[in-house]
Amino acid sequence: MDKITIIVPCYNEEEVVDLFYPAVHKHVEKIPDCTFNYIFVNDGSRDGTLDKLRQLSAAHDEISYVSLSRNFGKESAMMAGIDYADGDAVIIMDADLQHPPSSIAEMVKWWREGFDDVCAKRIDRKGETWLKRQCANIFYAVMKKFSTSYEMQRDVGDFRLLDRRCIEALKLMRENQRFTKGLFTWIGYRKKEIPFEVQPRAAGSTTWNFAALFNLAMNGMTSFTTAPLRMMTFLGITVSFGAMVYMFFVLTMALLYGDPVAGYPTLLTVMLFLGGMQMLALGIIGEYLGQIFYESKHRPIYLVDEIDGKRMIYAPRPPSTERNTSPRN
Ligand code: UDP
Ligand code: MG
Repeated sequence: MDKITIIVPCYNEEEVVDLFYPAVHKHVEKIPDCTFNYIFVNDGSRDGTLDKLRQLSAAHDEISYVSLSRNFGKESAMMAGIDYADGDAVIIMDADLQHPPSSIAEMVKWWREGFDDVCAKRIDRKGETWLKRQCANIFYAVMKKFSTSYEMQRDVGDFRLLDRRCIEALKLMRENQRFTKGLFTWIGYRKKEIPFEVQPRAAGSTTWNFAALFNLAMNGMTSFTTAPLRMMTFLGITVSFGAMVYMFFVLTMALLYGDPVAGYPTLLTVMLFLGGMQMLALGIIGEYLGQIFYESKHRPIYLVDEIDGKRMIYAPRPPSTERNTSPRN
């Protein structure tokens, strides 16, 4: 009998948490030789989500919840779920039912065939604006160009099944500025992509906006590659070389042909260009410095306020490294 834990990060989802369990249960109860339990992570919701979760966990044995002390963001909420999951595998799903529960059976099937990380790949980005699609394109293109050691999976999000060994691997990575999508790729193991169609939100509204997505993308880049730093070095070399060539050109023109040099426009252009380059370079260095700043504090990724009705005084579990074989072996 396999045991699978479904992790559901929730932030202000009072309208959908009640719909989630019956919708998922209907599908998973048909899967043979497998029990499911649920961990809802309340990510500091300001609405009635926590009350709803208390009621749910009281009504169903297989449901438990971990409530964080404030809103830490989805990446941290997922980590909390991963830390507390006790299944042989976990499935991470959004609370809003945008991830179709009908895909779970297929995920379990591939897991049983030996895949460790069964990722759901969205087959269209229809519901999204043109701008968001283009930004996603640029992001994937940049990441692909820069990350040499591994390739970021395209159109694959957090909806996935992870074997116990992936979970233990993720638990080792206690970095604060989490870019989970990159971590999933980084850990490797046997991956299988299955297609799925993103559903409309069951109720409520998305908490992501352009700024949040931009932040996530910047985070993704700075925490997985130092290529932009290297690029600035090359740019610096190129610009200096260009300036030198230009200097020789101006000198030759003036000495050989007595050409009067147009001072003002040339100066202004060069100055603005160099100023812009320097700001950009400083900004990029700053991004990395910011990463170091956050990581050097070694703060916990999240703090737990309450677990299944019990108030916690406590920091997250330390990463466990004891288990080095898969429970399925
Ligand atoms: N979420 C969270 N913490 C946050 C923001 C979002 O746990 O700070 C959860 C949210 O409750 C949902 C999932 O992350 O289950 C995805 O969020 P949302 O549906 O708002 O994003 P979208 O589907 O638009 O990417
Ligand atoms: Mg959603």
